[in-house]
Amino acid sequence: MLFAYSHDIRIRSAVICRSVTSVSKDYYKILNVEKGASQEEIKKAFRVLAHKYHPDKAGGDEAKFKEANEAYQVLGDQEKRQKYDQFGSAAFEGGQGFQGGQGFQGFDFSSSGFGDLGDIFGGMFGGARGGNREERGSDIQIDVDLTFREAVFGTQKDLNFTKLSSCERCGGSGGEPGIGMKECETCKGSGVQVFSQRTILGTIQSKRACEACRGSGEVPKKKCSTCAGDGVERRRESFSVTIPTGVDDGATLRLREKGEAVRGGRAGDLFVRLHVRDDARFERDGSQILSRATIGFSQAALGDTIDIETVDGAVSLKIPPSTQSGTLFRLRGKGVPSSRGRGDHIVTVEVRTPEKLSREQKKLLEELGDRV
Ligand SMILES: [Zn+2]
Ligand SMILES: [Zn+2]
Repeated sequence: MLFAYSHDIRIRSAVICRSVTSVSKDYYKILNVEKGASQEEIKKAFRVLAHKYHPDKAGGDEAKFKEANEAYQVLGDQEKRQKYDQFGSAAFEGGQGFQGGQGFQGFDFSSSGFGDLGDIFGGMFGGARGGNREERGSDIQIDVDLTFREAVFGTQKDLNFTKLSSCERCGGSGGEPGIGMKECETCKGSGVQVFSQRTILGTIQSKRACEACRGSGEVPKKKCSTCAGDGVERRRESFSVTIPTGVDDGATLRLREKGEAVRGGRAGDLFVRLHVRDDARFERDGSQILSRATIGFSQAALGDTIDIETVDGAVSLKIPPSTQSGTLFRLRGKGVPSSRGRGDHIVTVEVRTPEKLSREQKKLLEELGDRV
């Protein structure tokens, strides 16, 4: 998957001039678009085909890929497209009508068509514009359950899982220890494979790391007996992850290079997705913690001091006389820690109306005379 289109491009103008084709190709048909398609539609159509036929992909088709590329180089550029509509593809293949260089107008590097191609490959293949890109192992995602309190204060979690790790016997080289290395036959020790591709712009050469030696230029004389040359083995790993304070349900931590190992490259990343279990006592609203407390009718009327459960343990809350049901009380600094300090804990106090009253209680309430 190492495409360095924006690098190592050598146009051989001689090649362009020599190739003479008289049969006009239907670029619209190749890209599967209508004659009146917009530039955006053409670009989209090319992306789809480029993705489908890319020779680096399993099931790719290099010939079809080149054909789509050729069509896009013309139709993707307003000026060239106009010329094509007028003269057909021969105008772009050194065909009769344009002998002598006139037909090659616009085939310069600054033409927008070329920039688009770079963009497209950048987008598709991870933006490997800087030449040979290193191999990278797969990412892993694991799920971790947290209690409400763990999410508030952070914690340390021990993770145990099986993944591809660097082979212990060969240290990841893939070679039997002590036997040594030899020059890679595929790339003759250069570590690079060069691919040539003919396009409308001439021959484009792209380099990529040699697949046989993964760019190192040498291969082991004998493959490691544990990993059979892969350099990696599936092993159970355990390590400790620090869960920061104040994480939310669904948050994901990224641990760089803790994913699957790969021979001759960087390991992938480990993504730890956090699930915060519900707590019957508390709810979260950002950095605030919400809870409810029920008080009796007389406590509400006369005032009292009650215990409120918080993530820090029980805290005393003074209920002033004449407290109405639904009143909110703020316990400062008992919420979730954040970059701006700790949030608050908000208690909603509900007044319970007595369900059964004795004769005496009824009499007392009647004396209260609070009818509205
Ligand atoms: Zn090994
Ligand atoms: Zn090689």
